[in-house]
Amino acid sequence: MKKVLVLEDETSIRSFVVINLKRSGYDPIEAGTGAEALRQMEQNPDIKVALLDIMLPDMDGFEVCRQIRATNSKIGIIMLTARTQEMDKVTGLMTGADDYVTKPFSPAELTARIDALYRRVGETEEPVSDEVVQGPFRLNSRNRTLEKNGERVRLTQVEYSIVKLFMDNPGRALSREDILNSVWGRDYFGELKIVDVNIRRLRIKIEDDPTSPTYITTVWGYGYKWGI
Ligand code: CA
Repeated sequence: MKKVLVLEDETSIRSFVVINLKRSGYDPIEAGTGAEALRQMEQNPDIKVALLDIMLPDMDGFEVCRQIRATNSKIGIIMLTARTQEMDKVTGLMTGADDYVTKPFSPAELTARIDALYRRVGETEEPVSDEVVQGPFRLNSRNRTLEKNGERVRLTQVEYSIVKLFMDNPGRALSREDILNSVWGRDYFGELKIVDVNIRRLRIKIEDDPTSPTYITTVWGYGYKWGI
């Protein structure tokens, strides 16, 4: 069964999400507090996607996200945000979330986001054993890992997919739409901003000086370019 963690303290919203997930063939694991969510994660290591509410009785969802990410770089994380401030989205993504859904959301929208993320997370085993080395970087597409100067860089699945896209297209300017379509899929109906936020996070992880990036450079008004 495809397990999805549903962390939401409001029982009416949680039931609504759970019913819709079951209808779409998922196996929802419920939690009403951050502590319960972390306990469920320990007991169910096969959870592939987590939905995290932000306003919780014991801790905020960003902290739950940070704690899950500290030990699990593979899981897909979607933040459920009630507020629409840009900061929330950015904070969530910077703490390691892959996506966010703003309440109120339709069951169709939520399921589409989970399906898309689940597909990406599920693609962990690639049949070809392949290594690409460019400058200080070594990308292993079988293990989906990246090393810089022989040191492992911890990436989320989304970040890995972006780096792979760049390394497959060195020196080529990629539009934000290209990156969104390739990494998130054409059926994704989120915002282009998610590309920029992920690039910002990637730069922090891989650039020598993230404030003056040399590997991922900005192509103004268009997108980004990978150069070694
Ligand atoms: Ca709440």
